[in-house]
Amino acid sequence: MCYIIYVGIDDTDSSEGMCTTYIGAVVMDELKSCGYRVLGYPRLIRLNPFARFKTRGNGAVSFKLLIKSEDEFETAKNLIINRVKELSHRQEENTNPGVVFYKVKTDNHNALIDLPSELEDYALKTVQNIVTIKEAEELAVKIGAEIHKIKKGRGIIGALAAIGCPLPDSTFELLAYRLPENYGTKRRMNYDSVRKMDEETFPCTFDNLDEEEGYIAIEPHTPCPILFGIRGETPDCVDEAHAMVELCEPVEKTAVFLTNQHTDQHLIDIDQISDMEKYKCYIIEGRVSRNPYVIEGGHVIMTLQDDSGSIECAAYEPTKGFREIFKELRKGDRLKVYGGIGDKGTLNVEKFQIIELANDYKTINPICECGKRMKSAGKDKGFKCKCGRKLRDGEKVREEVERKIEKGFYEVPPSARRHLSKPLVRFKINKKKTKNLR
Ligand code: ATP
Repeated sequence: MCYIIYVGIDDTDSSEGMCTTYIGAVVMDELKSCGYRVLGYPRLIRLNPFARFKTRGNGAVSFKLLIKSEDEFETAKNLIINRVKELSHRQEENTNPGVVFYKVKTDNHNALIDLPSELEDYALKTVQNIVTIKEAEELAVKIGAEIHKIKKGRGIIGALAAIGCPLPDSTFELLAYRLPENYGTKRRMNYDSVRKMDEETFPCTFDNLDEEEGYIAIEPHTPCPILFGIRGETPDCVDEAHAMVELCEPVEKTAVFLTNQHTDQHLIDIDQISDMEKYKCYIIEGRVSRNPYVIEGGHVIMTLQDDSGSIECAAYEPTKGFREIFKELRKGDRLKVYGGIGDKGTLNVEKFQIIELANDYKTINPICECGKRMKSAGKDKGFKCKCGRKLRDGEKVREEVERKIEKGFYEVPPSARRHLSKPLVRFKINKKKTKNLR
């Protein structure tokens, strides 16, 4: 008889630095060097992108530990909690770490373990909705999970969700961490080797580059411990890609995480615009009811409507070239839109599918009897032609314009992609996942 301990950790970093995945990697290495066995892949679970207190990508970490006795559990627990206290940025007001332990007794640690369905439902809710510390505490009591709150301990929300999140679809991310003395300095790697790696491993790895923006997407732009992260379909392909990247600075350690990144798990498929709420992400069908227009800051806005109501949809400035495609939408186009609703109630579009294209028209001056296009004769004076003819009561005519956009899917570039958002290249992949990955 042995125990599997599910360990969840969250809310350890601040905008000044640190990263929950790094603390997870440090803790796992230390446990292994003390003789503990970590089972399977650790998990990096991205939660609701609209959660109020997130630092950046709203990620939480969990892993499984094999334990033979209560004593071993106590020692591991102390090690984990002490490391989280020591490494987290808990001096920052908004960093409120949480650690959760969930113990399962088993006589076969290789067997599939069914986690309580309430825990899975809660985890999905944390990815798609907003939850409270109280809700996490109540669930922990109900299922017998042990929670450790540091300061306000808000991190228990994410820590519990990272343990329980079902993964019907999943990806992997290999993260390489810098030496602490290099934190905050420019990351040093050979960008040509990253381009070559992308050429050779795409689409098994993806979002390595943003070609349009000439942007290397594997490196973060914050002072955190991560040197780069390579995202892909399998542990082998992220490993292979890692070996192709030429680095010009040392790596402290690497870790491969199983994740819900790029699976669209945050999106709720919904039937009516009127049922949509702030701080949630959706897939919704409707028709464009107002042509796109540009507002200050270079953001492009259009209105989507169905029988129940309408919602403003935005392609924000950071989505760069995506805005040019968005501008080509026209009133009457039938769309399926994927995105989330922020503070202002506007849907931030991650991708869309054009299901039906409406006819587009422009209004132009009429053609003269002589066959030439007429010109305006002045305000309220009708039209005139070079041939001398005049049309005092003439009106502009409507002419159909060829659409510059086709039916199909369009998405934001990698530089503007949410961690949870599924890139179109992944739509073609039909992966079979088992509960084992949990
Ligand atoms: P990073 O991605 O760099 O690790 P972060 O963006 O994950 O940082 P955190 O420091 O983890 O940000 O802060 C997010 C906080 O919000 C955590 O305390 C987490 O428990 C909590 N949280 C996560 N999801 C939700 C949710 N759906 N509702 C309410 N709180 C949430």
